[in-house]
Amino acid sequence: MRQLLGATLGDPHLLPAQVGCTTFAGSFNPNARRETPNQDDARPRNPAPVQENALMSEQLDHRSLYRLPWSLPDNAISWLEPTAACNLYCEGCYRTNDPKSHKPLDEIADDLDLFTQLRTSDGISVAGGDPLCHPEVTDIVAMIAGRGLKPILNTNGLTLSRELLIEMKRAGLWGLTLHIDSKQRRPGWRGKSEVELNELRLKFAQLIAEVGGLSCAFNSTVYEDTLESVPEVVDWGEKHIDIVHVLVFIAFRAALIDGCFDYYVNGRIIDLSDIRYATDQQPRTDIKSTDILAVIRKRFPDFQPCAYLNGTEMPDSFKWLAAGRLGTRGKVHGYVGPKFIELAQVSHHLRHGRYLAYSSPKVHRRGRALLALSPLDRGMARAARAYLRNPLRIFRRLHYQSVMIIQPIDLLPDGRQNMCDGCPDMTVWNGRLAWSCRLEEPMNLGGFVQTVPKATPEGH
Ligand code: SF4
Repeated sequence: MRQLLGATLGDPHLLPAQVGCTTFAGSFNPNARRETPNQDDARPRNPAPVQENALMSEQLDHRSLYRLPWSLPDNAISWLEPTAACNLYCEGCYRTNDPKSHKPLDEIADDLDLFTQLRTSDGISVAGGDPLCHPEVTDIVAMIAGRGLKPILNTNGLTLSRELLIEMKRAGLWGLTLHIDSKQRRPGWRGKSEVELNELRLKFAQLIAEVGGLSCAFNSTVYEDTLESVPEVVDWGEKHIDIVHVLVFIAFRAALIDGCFDYYVNGRIIDLSDIRYATDQQPRTDIKSTDILAVIRKRFPDFQPCAYLNGTEMPDSFKWLAAGRLGTRGKVHGYVGPKFIELAQVSHHLRHGRYLAYSSPKVHRRGRALLALSPLDRGMARAARAYLRNPLRIFRRLHYQSVMIIQPIDLLPDGRQNMCDGCPDMTVWNGRLAWSCRLEEPMNLGGFVQTVPKATPEGH
């Protein structure tokens, strides 16, 4: 019970940061969106153009949800990049593909030591690049497990075989997050829609279930033209709630170079255009977690988040928005509430001294046992009533599944960057912790970029 859910995390990152000025403008145009007013009332010095076709956000009061307790020194996960090499092209990737970037094991050990010194973590996301490109991936898994941490492989799965999966499981692998979406140019799956890709997702989910004992998560980047497909993936997850433990949706971001800002690193003005995720195109980069929520709720009106991570600049922005649902295969009976997540996180911390990342599949299968928490959590109580409405269901296993929606960096019109407060995906750079979604900046420019709005002609 104590291991419950908080386990919701997935990997945000097969996507980029965004540092552009049209991107977030919609949030400051009262006509552009229907959403909770932001407490942060920054006014743009350069009124930025609003991206056309405003999305319909869902209204959500952050104070009614549980604020996940993660912080810089005490978090559920950390982010290890053993390589920047990748065998696939993903449109939303935030890292430059470098086939010669495999870190040697002693360097990876140093990274893990640094995590251990600076930050308490429950799990380590093994990312990249694609970690399966690293020839010593099994040793890396063993190194992490040997330190008492949960290794979670974040991969596109292209070179994942049953044999390798079994080998990594023996080495201590805790789970996998498969990144699958329609903008990956995946051999054999090019041009397939998100709905058609559910077939591929299922193949991986079944493989992981057959090997057994591993957490199974899927993530996908959400673009303007794939936003409407999100409910299809949520629906697919419901049908396979017995073998799919976590679904993650990550709003696409890119650094729009549109002339609204000057970019500085260490006090010097820089040219941002060479950064992997910079673009002078105009892709939609202002999709918010509440936009994704709105699309999900059109199809599943009962879909109810229970926890969130706020932004560093905006307490009422939902950088990570978590929901937990209980269901029998093919039917969700209800959504857990904030108290349930709080219990899961706090009890895990009391027992293990760390916040929970990725519960084991055993816990996800024990939905009926979790119902014992109904007196403490209204969402759980509602789910229990719905489940028990048909007494015959008691013979069917009840499963728990997490759904996470992630909204990476937002650039505010006054130049502030709204990052995830308590970022779970901090990685190591130059002996310190750094946002993995913006790693290209310190690597290529010597530090993180600061954004300053260009002066208006009037000098204001
Ligand atoms: S701030 Fe952290 S959690 Fe948020 S998108 Fe960047 S690396 Fe990921």
